[in-house]
Amino acid sequence: MAIELEDKYGAHNYHPLPVVLAKGEGVFMWDVEGKRYFDFLSAYSAVNQGHCHPKIIKALIDQAQTLELTSRAFYNNVLGVYEKFITGYFGYQRVLPMNTGAEGDETALKLTRKWAYKVKGVPENQAKIICCENNFHGRTISIISMSTDPQARDDFGPFTPGFIIIPYNDLSALEKALQDPTVAGFLVEPIQGEAGVFVPDEGYLKKAYDLCKANNVLFIADEVQTGIARTGKLLACDWEGFKPDVLILGKALSGGVYPISAVLADDHIMMVIHPGEHGSTFGGNPVAGRVAIAALEVVRDEKLAENAQKMGELFRSEIMKINSPFIELVRGKGLLNAIVIRPHKGKSAWDVCLKMRDNGLLAKPTHDHIIRFAPPLVINEAQVLEAVGIIARSIKELE
Ligand code: PLP
Repeated sequence: MAIELEDKYGAHNYHPLPVVLAKGEGVFMWDVEGKRYFDFLSAYSAVNQGHCHPKIIKALIDQAQTLELTSRAFYNNVLGVYEKFITGYFGYQRVLPMNTGAEGDETALKLTRKWAYKVKGVPENQAKIICCENNFHGRTISIISMSTDPQARDDFGPFTPGFIIIPYNDLSALEKALQDPTVAGFLVEPIQGEAGVFVPDEGYLKKAYDLCKANNVLFIADEVQTGIARTGKLLACDWEGFKPDVLILGKALSGGVYPISAVLADDHIMMVIHPGEHGSTFGGNPVAGRVAIAALEVVRDEKLAENAQKMGELFRSEIMKINSPFIELVRGKGLLNAIVIRPHKGKSAWDVCLKMRDNGLLAKPTHDHIIRFAPPLVINEAQVLEAVGIIARSIKELE
């Protein structure tokens, strides 16, 4: 019924796995018939704190019953408190609040261009931003102008100019691209999530950051998917011990209960934006502020980064024990992991996901042959072992 309704009345811009969910709690979701599943997607890493976390839901309800939206035409008594909290939490001087990840990326692009003209001295309309092949930063026209994925781009042109696309994890390509004096920023995912959890070589990000510094170019980290403890550190860039000039966050900034994104930067970058030059009706609303504070407190108080690191190691070591012709490769960091599936006896990653669904675990293929495994970070050891048991059994049943 639910599937028929979506099929008949909704745009066909997604291809969901056939399961109709009705309830969530912690690492689990239940379908309309009451069957329980491990959630191994976490709404693309938005639900890091687990489904319906009581503290985050309470913040949502309390604030929604008190004051929901003022717009930025007026001050409200939550936004400043939230801004102080999030800047202190991540160690930046300022934040620009938005709603979705794509808006966060758009904001970072605009900020970087403006910085190029006002601070770096790039001639008008010539600023360029370097990005990487196989990136995923969202779905707006400018963002898909950076994409190399035909599905994301085809028939959506004309595209926004001003991007230089280089291979990911390739420092010499970056070094070469940085020679152009009109380059303003380098936008990169610390791990390419949607592309299939591509983890770059150790040291790549820090060296890329150093190259940007040497060329007066902003390093812009899109941590919409990798941030907020997903990879076993608060930020994936923390693994290499540097602070991006511009940081984009989304998804788990709300624990999945509300669309909240943010761009963080220090004064010398953020203050190039003046009143009227950028914004959003909902960005920085009181509900978002309270929800984000609660969501970040949960990450800190429940030590979710440490748990993601430990449980991630356990997950990968257990998955590697599965001996199957289906498994070509296992990769990941913290609880952002993927298995590259080798098609076998006419069965693909989609079939593996259907079988796992039957056995009580939900995950979704990305790019046909890769399955991402990204459970809520509140998962415990017994649950990891049970989940790996389901994955192993599902794969065996298909062999
Ligand atoms: N950036 C990255 C790295 C993402 O993974 C995503 C979504 O998957 C986005 C941006 C876009 O976020 P949203 O779907 O909230 O616009």
